[in-house]
Amino acid sequence: MFKVSGWTWPKHIQTLSGIAFDQQDANLFLVEDAHLRADALKHSILPRLRIVMNVAISLIRKIYNVEVLDDSIISAYPNFRQKREHELQIKYENAFVGIGGQRKKKWFGLARKDGKPVQILPFRFAFMLHHKGICTFLENGWLKGLDVPTSEKLLRFHIENEHKINPLCFEARMRPSVICSDTLPLMASLFDQYEFRIQHQLYDNHFVGFDYPLPVLGSSLVEVVHNFVCFFPVYDSYLQISQGSADRLDELIVKLSHWLQQHLDGMEAISNSTEQSTTIFDAVKSAESKARVMPALRWQIFQRDHWKCVACGRRSHDGAILHVDHIIPRSHGGSDKLENLQTLCNICNIGKSNRDTTDLRNLD
Ligand SMILES: [Zn+2]
Repeated sequence: MFKVSGWTWPKHIQTLSGIAFDQQDANLFLVEDAHLRADALKHSILPRLRIVMNVAISLIRKIYNVEVLDDSIISAYPNFRQKREHELQIKYENAFVGIGGQRKKKWFGLARKDGKPVQILPFRFAFMLHHKGICTFLENGWLKGLDVPTSEKLLRFHIENEHKINPLCFEARMRPSVICSDTLPLMASLFDQYEFRIQHQLYDNHFVGFDYPLPVLGSSLVEVVHNFVCFFPVYDSYLQISQGSADRLDELIVKLSHWLQQHLDGMEAISNSTEQSTTIFDAVKSAESKARVMPALRWQIFQRDHWKCVACGRRSHDGAILHVDHIIPRSHGGSDKLENLQTLCNICNIGKSNRDTTDLRNLD
């Protein structure tokens, strides 16, 4: 076991202990230059979200004994090619990493209006970062190409299983999107909501998770992952239905209950111990307090330094959190100009004290 600030990292999610999302990430969405913003999201946010997803996938394997990547692929947004100039004009408002069905012609459970086989599933289950925080979501959109019986089948699944899905929603802090209509009261039951959807052919039924405000790290990041894995049985059901198989909701819920029980027992054992120890939180905080650089400039420096620590070479997808460091500290008259700034990872940044004016790029 690995202790952080009175809180214990279970062994299987220790990977998360090096990951944080903070106000500096939120500042990305203030970067005016669309190209710079897109690159920053791609190189800085997505690698960390991928690590979070990898942890979730390994947890799903542990809890449900399901290999997520047998049927799903990991997708990321923004997802653009450098040559696509028009996509680099977009001012992205969020970034996410999610799982969705693999493109293969075995989704016989779904049918398209035009009779062609379904290759792309209309579901995505993801972690999303936006300017205020991080949440999970299950997207059930772009259903327009599917035929009516298929879309109804997915909503009927919810109507038939609502009493099982509700507890998952609570545990996962997920809520279904609500329909606003003059003819449907705001407090209508979910059954009525789904019947209304079927009747009016409103099939885009999304689930959005609790929004964890930045900074998200430590136990709040673990909660985000917890929420994801607890809602996995619903995503899995969509996949099973899409394959034409029976859903395995009951089986997965039994496994989840079993795991949660073990988890609770474990937490009790931990709360009985009073041991406290050093903290990655303090380390991250001290690194954060060192540099306050204008967002656009910050990302320009990362761009120049190729999105890696100039001292040790680690990148954000190696788990490094990148910071901008003043080579000559402000307290020594150092400027905020490009030439006085360098990219350091969280570890190297902590190692370099305020009195140290070494330009780490000049070292081997
Ligand atoms: Zn470093």
